[in-house]
Amino acid sequence: MRRLYELARGRGVLVYWTERLPSGLDGMYFRTDKWWPVIVLSSAMRGRLRSHVFAHVLGHYVLQHKVSVFASPATETGRRAIIQAEAQADRFARLLLHLIHRGIKGREKPPGDPATQRGFHVLEDVAPFS
Ligand SMILES: [Zn+2]
Repeated sequence: MRRLYELARGRGVLVYWTERLPSGLDGMYFRTDKWWPVIVLSSAMRGRLRSHVFAHVLGHYVLQHKVSVFASPATETGRRAIIQAEAQADRFARLLLHLIHRGIKGREKPPGDPATQRGFHVLEDVAPFS
């Protein structure tokens, strides 16, 4: 958890813990042009869920998604983009936690299919903060 916090703060991302997220929402990410990127996490989470949600939301930042919250897109294309973004953030989270667990080694092959390659380059980018 401390490691995730350091990665976020090292990138200038503000991290807040709160009990006030709506029920069913464990974490969110957003940024504006005028302020630092922000991650908000539910302080009610524990253990592996907490790490996964933190890493997932951090993934939205690293992958340069605009927001992490579902916004009821009007079009099928919009829906597909959100589903794809959520899958990317999940893949990023699994990979990041895997690397943290093993001690980040930037050159190591990522687990899973070759499609994770893109996320892996992103991780090499964050590796200097290890
Ligand atoms: Zn998400």
